[in-house]
Amino acid sequence: LPQIRLEGVTVRFDDGHEALRNVSLDVQKGEFIFVVGPSGAGKSTFIKLLLKESDATEGKIYVCGKKVSNMHRRKVPFLRRQLGVVFQDFRLLPNKTVYENVAFAMEIIEAKERDIRRQVPMILSIVGLADKHKLYPHQLSGGEQQRVSIARAMINNPPVLIADEPTGNLDPDTSWEIMKLLRQINQRGTTIIMATHDKTIVDVMQQRVIALSEGKIIRDELGGCYGCED
Ligand code: ADP
Ligand code: ADP
Repeated sequence: LPQIRLEGVTVRFDDGHEALRNVSLDVQKGEFIFVVGPSGAGKSTFIKLLLKESDATEGKIYVCGKKVSNMHRRKVPFLRRQLGVVFQDFRLLPNKTVYENVAFAMEIIEAKERDIRRQVPMILSIVGLADKHKLYPHQLSGGEQQRVSIARAMINNPPVLIADEPTGNLDPDTSWEIMKLLRQINQRGTTIIMATHDKTIVDVMQQRVIALSEGKIIRDELGGCYGCED
């Protein structure tokens, strides 16, 4: 089984609207994947399916060797530990420092205090924030806040990192700093699935591109570009 597999997945809402239509795809460990497409194409629905925040109406979904499509509620927290998540709006806890925001992700899984004290500084230095560990989110630039959120997503070593428009609130230079960090994380073996509208980033990075339109995969190619106006 590949790391992620969708088999004939359809997501249909009560009003009959289909956010995904008969989607099948495999993701192998270590891939870097862009999910692109206009607003309403189904990108968020795809990400929510992987996290089991949304359910498939039809089809099967496997993530990290587990069948997600009929997974028991009780097992969902274990699934989510396999998936680091980064959002466009960072979603940091405003009343916690940089250090505490990252440490909190380890406290949730009941990591040992000793491991927390060792690992948090290590990940903060990887993301280039070692000297800012005492600051609060509002004291950081947007790019720095996104680095904290990446550190938090990676602190428990998930095999897959899901990034939903991670550069959507950042200027181009800062976006490239974040992309360099994501590439570095990918080169260390973590699978990355990134939904984005950023044409330049997709075209320059030369990774696998899955293009969605009206809930269907219209293109899936290695070294792909954003629009590929042919
Ligand atoms: P994207 O992330 O690519 O913008 P989404 O996955 O958010 O697209 O949405 C796909 C489609 O599904 C959109 O047309 C959206 O309006 C529709 N949709 C999302 N959630 C619901 C819902 N709960 N009920 C009905 N339609 C929905
Ligand atoms: P940007 O210009 O990218 O939006 P800012 O002007 O918000 O960035 O911040 C510039 C730098 O100053 C950042 O590195 C940020 O971490 C730091 N900084 C901002 N506020 C504080 C603060 N209250 N204490 C310490 N450093 C701060």
